[in-house]
Amino acid sequence: MWNQILHRRGQWSERPHSHPSHLERTWQTSIEGDEVIVPANTYIATILTITANRLTPVLVEPDIATYNLSPSLMRQAITSRTKVVMPVHLYGRLAEMPEITAIAKEHDLLILEDAAQAHGASLQGRKAGNWGHAAGFSFYPGKNLGALGDAGAVTTNDEELAKTIRALGNYGSHKKYENLYQGVNSRLDEMQAAFLRVKLRYLDEEIKARRTVARAYLEGIKNPLVKLPAWEVEEQHVFHLFVVRCERRDALQEYLWERGVQTLIHYPVPPHKQGAYGEWNNQQYKISEKIHYKVLSLPIGSFLDQYLVKNLITCIKEFK
Ligand SMILES: *Cc1c(COP(=O)(O)O)cnc(C)c1O
Repeated sequence: MWNQILHRRGQWSERPHSHPSHLERTWQTSIEGDEVIVPANTYIATILTITANRLTPVLVEPDIATYNLSPSLMRQAITSRTKVVMPVHLYGRLAEMPEITAIAKEHDLLILEDAAQAHGASLQGRKAGNWGHAAGFSFYPGKNLGALGDAGAVTTNDEELAKTIRALGNYGSHKKYENLYQGVNSRLDEMQAAFLRVKLRYLDEEIKARRTVARAYLEGIKNPLVKLPAWEVEEQHVFHLFVVRCERRDALQEYLWERGVQTLIHYPVPPHKQGAYGEWNNQQYKISEKIHYKVLSLPIGSFLDQYLVKNLITCIKEFK
């Protein structure tokens, strides 16, 4: 249903029908152990989708300047078993999709985007969810476009794949009481779809408000101890999160807390250090670890007024 709404708006269908034969082939021959390239510094949900399908995640370090998958390191990670690359548009910044797409084409890889944080981000006129063969969106309440409970959607321009995905989310059934696949129940609740249908109208406004706050932070926060996020192309970033980096991150968080500003950390523990992936706990991903241990998310959203933004800028300027 959600897909249909989006398609009717024509917002996600700029891209012509992508290679169905290639897709089918790769889908059908996908076997246990096939490798999926994924940034090491994502939220664990990205990686869980890979291991849940008994595929092998190949963690690749991000570019420290963008926090997104590094195209050159992605290239180095490709082996004869690599089938998929899964870029994550982390914090709302669209990944370096032109480069990633070129490399994926060269190596005949599928591109599956994790667009959970990037509704509406775009580059070269193409939006998140419209670069890959398919993309996953989250409408978890805290996202830029959030439902009033859990919800999500997949976008694709491939009609056959869309049918398969709809079936997979409905116990593997295309047709009532006929089950072609061992699917799951992940249907979008109708009430949530109704809420989202209304909230979608306000997404552009929400993004605009977030960019206004981001601009104020970027212009106002001048403190050599606080590294601000990169933002070169206006449309590329929707600022789901405004993430700064600081060597004394915990001290900065404490300092802001004492001044009435709540901040969060996205994310405190990298996936390879989680108990769920004990077999990776001894591996080192230095850039990812640096990010996880040094980042802090400042408040951002349409709820912030000018006064709060100014106050926060003054606070951070005075942090020593
Ligand atoms: C929120 C999020 C997810 C998971 O979305 P759910 O709707 O909770 O399944 C996946 N990846 C990233 C990067 C996220 O931020």
